[in-house]
Amino acid sequence: MNAPLAPTPELALLLMREAFDRQRTAFAQEINPSREVRLERLARLSAMTERIAPAIERAISEDFSHRSVHVTRLADVMMVQTAIRHARRHLKEWMKVRRAPTSVAFMPGYNRVMPQPLGVVGVVSPWNYPYQLAMGPTIAAIGAGNRVMIKPSELTPRLSELMREAIAADFSPEEITVITGGADVGTAFVSLPFDHLLFTGSTGVGRQVAIAAAANLTPVTLELGGKSPAIVNPDADLEEVAPRLAMGKLFNSGQTCIAPDYVAVQRHGVDAFVGAMRRAVQKQYPSIAANPDYTAIISERHLARLQALLDDAESRGALIVPLHPEGLARAPGSRKLAPTLVLNATEQMRIMQEEIFGPLLPVMAYERLDEAIAYVNRHERPLALYWFGRNAADRDRVLARTISGGVTVNDCMWHFGQEELPFGGVGASGMGAYHGAYGFRTFSKDKPVFHQSRFAGTRLMFPPYGRTFDRMAGLLKRIT
Ligand code: NAD
Repeated sequence: MNAPLAPTPELALLLMREAFDRQRTAFAQEINPSREVRLERLARLSAMTERIAPAIERAISEDFSHRSVHVTRLADVMMVQTAIRHARRHLKEWMKVRRAPTSVAFMPGYNRVMPQPLGVVGVVSPWNYPYQLAMGPTIAAIGAGNRVMIKPSELTPRLSELMREAIAADFSPEEITVITGGADVGTAFVSLPFDHLLFTGSTGVGRQVAIAAAANLTPVTLELGGKSPAIVNPDADLEEVAPRLAMGKLFNSGQTCIAPDYVAVQRHGVDAFVGAMRRAVQKQYPSIAANPDYTAIISERHLARLQALLDDAESRGALIVPLHPEGLARAPGSRKLAPTLVLNATEQMRIMQEEIFGPLLPVMAYERLDEAIAYVNRHERPLALYWFGRNAADRDRVLARTISGGVTVNDCMWHFGQEELPFGGVGASGMGAYHGAYGFRTFSKDKPVFHQSRFAGTRLMFPPYGRTFDRMAGLLKRIT
């Protein structure tokens, strides 16, 4: 496929205004789509995903210069299909109007909660899992009965164009539409008066998106990034830890929002940890440059950024330890960066200040576990936290004393794959959540409805106020 031409920002703005108005009008004509309509839309999205899966693998790989097809298959295709299956299976239960308890003072009246769609939802997505992070929120939004406009990343132009074409072929623009373009298009996109906006991307851009959304009082879900720590307990079995940590760090070459960003290891265990990581990495990736399983860095700019992080760390006294015999040498033109540990990492180094988003893993040595906990708490709330070990009391101490978007115990990243768990950050790593029922709720208004009874006791509180009112107020005080 040739690299597609992006529309000019003016044209994109015009198109997105028109698309937005069409979706609003269509929503007004079908405020509460039936379950059958929603199920059919989800089934159509699933069939589309199945049909274009090979093209998704090709497009993403070309956009990255090389991306493992297995990574795409698992993280972009399978995860989308799983989310659709889960939503289709549970839609009936999620859509149900629920009875809620009623205080005795209001009986025989009764309460119900009625989930309703919000209207037109905007989804802004990043490049790292470009299909999944556009479609995951879309699945939740259409399951909840909304219309969706998607603005995918400009850094994966082939995948974005493929998605635009496929959606345009299989969905009416009133149902789902894709608007492609760069940051300028993104800026205009988030200025539309959406009924909800879900943004996945960096913390800096997320802040701008929240400001733009505030102008319209558009509620936002922000799925951001940050530095997710892995803490290795002194009693952890390193032969078990290392392969799991290597998988988490090197999947998509570390270009994952929930990748372990840095690892805290007890000081006297650092040498053993380095050895275990070397063995694990070399077993998972016998080679790097020629290995189709090993993914390249998305752009020259990101590659230069990662190299600068390494240079800065080295200049401030870090020890750079390549985990693979191929070392850090790169074939000309290749954007593959080899897995590398950064020992003696300190807070003064940029690599311990910025989200890494690459296959570099700083190791922070601690003496006592509480130091690692205190370190996490001194910094911005991470999107994920990983703890490895056996001692349940230590595990519970880490869980109770740290705040993060999510946690996997004794592994990395798998909490993301749980459709029954909410996924989202906290503080600088985001706000709000989606996945499964939580996504349905994010894109619904839970409308509370109180049904008054013909025999309502509240009529005893009508004015003119006097003895009856006082007696009722006294009674209410006792029974509520
Ligand atoms: P980014 O913030 O640069 O871009 C994300 C999207 O926002 C793109 O579509 C971009 O075109 C658009 N955009 C850029 N400027 C904009 C603006 N001013 N207004 C509106 N939209 C604008 O992020 P990225 O580099 O594509 O993705 C990497 C970041 O995303 C990392 O920080 C990573 O941790 C985070 N991330 C988070 C999650 C999560 O689920 N929490 C998942 C993946 C990635």
